[in-house]
Amino acid sequence: MIRINENYLKLKASYLFSDIAKRVTAYTQANPDKPVIRLGIGDVTEPLPQACIEAFHAGVDEMANRATFKGYGPEQGYAFLREAIAANDYAARGCPIAADEVFVSDGSKCDCGNIQEIFATEGLKLAIPDPVYPVYVDTNVMAGRTGANLDGRYAGITYLDSTPANGYVPAIPAVATDLIYLCFPNNPTGAVATKEQLAAWVAYAKANKAIILFDSAYEAYITDPTIPHSIYEIPGADEVAIEFRSFSKTAGFTGTRCAYTVVPKKLVAYDVAGNAHPVHALWNRRHTTKFNGVSYPVQKAAAAIYTEAGKAQVKEKIAYYLANAALIRKAVTDLGFSCIGGDNAPYIWINTGTDSWAFFDKLLNEAQVVCTPGAGFGKCGEGHVRISAFNSRENVEKALARIAAALKA
Ligand SMILES: *Cc1c(COP(=O)(O)O)cnc(C)c1O
Repeated sequence: MIRINENYLKLKASYLFSDIAKRVTAYTQANPDKPVIRLGIGDVTEPLPQACIEAFHAGVDEMANRATFKGYGPEQGYAFLREAIAANDYAARGCPIAADEVFVSDGSKCDCGNIQEIFATEGLKLAIPDPVYPVYVDTNVMAGRTGANLDGRYAGITYLDSTPANGYVPAIPAVATDLIYLCFPNNPTGAVATKEQLAAWVAYAKANKAIILFDSAYEAYITDPTIPHSIYEIPGADEVAIEFRSFSKTAGFTGTRCAYTVVPKKLVAYDVAGNAHPVHALWNRRHTTKFNGVSYPVQKAAAAIYTEAGKAQVKEKIAYYLANAALIRKAVTDLGFSCIGGDNAPYIWINTGTDSWAFFDKLLNEAQVVCTPGAGFGKCGEGHVRISAFNSRENVEKALARIAAALKA
């Protein structure tokens, strides 16, 4: 009799985006004359930068010619891309990361989800923020590292609460943990961590022989020059941290698929006898066994982000979304709400002080605007909603005018 992995039965079905879709569909069917504007989505809306498009086309043309055709490439990514990443994203910021510590992949979602495989299942102590990108929790539930979900939280996880009281940057836990997930700039809150705050996490990880999994999918949105873009800007972080980066939000690659994970060679984890093993070798084994590389034209397109033209075009796209974010921030602040995010991130996290689904319904029914209820991201998300800056300027302006009219009334 074939049996299932019963850990899957513990997963709390995520109704968030299907619930949103259901409510929006019901509303539009009842009100076909009232078009809805979606500011709830965590997906980009602007097309790929021109430099990427040209490199993408050139890559496809190479595949059409016997002399330049490429079959399987290196599983870890082509050297031209790994070297561009190491030089531009790390060496340029003084981070001690070499090209062979960069693993190119088809997405940070997969990387964040797959990385836990190389660590112990039994007895591993997890620290995960709340609210949070659901991948970190759910993949550990699937692997059997948690107990049941009681009242919205899994037994066996140390939740790192992000609340108005701590400025949405969680405090270091009072207990020892082994595997710590951090995401800055944060999805969903848009909060960023200072050098001092990240240095405290690095010190905590060192003291506990722990590893930090640092998701910096939104680093390109950082405008404050004092905020670190990479955890490796903290001295010694290459001994305790793995970093995930993605071209999805940086350069509009959500539908093109390219990302990378940095596993420094200095990073170690331990066997049951306490002997240290390099994590780089484990991840390399996992990656080359289960993954066969990102398509060549996509890697060419990704490398174009690091050309002069590519850098300028990426900056322009980010500035466009951040200008949307500034408009949203100003509008909700003018309405008397406190909020964070939007200055170094494409998300604005509004403290509504009310039930987040009730606020969602109010915006939908009275302003025809779709946001994301904070409760969908975790217990600490209750009382908040996320508004995304990923949309056209025209839609953002129209949505804000409607929100102002509805909430002032
Ligand atoms: C969008 C996003 C990613 C990137 O995912 P991809 O699979 O690379 O598209 C990673 N982490 C967070 C928190 C995100 O919001």
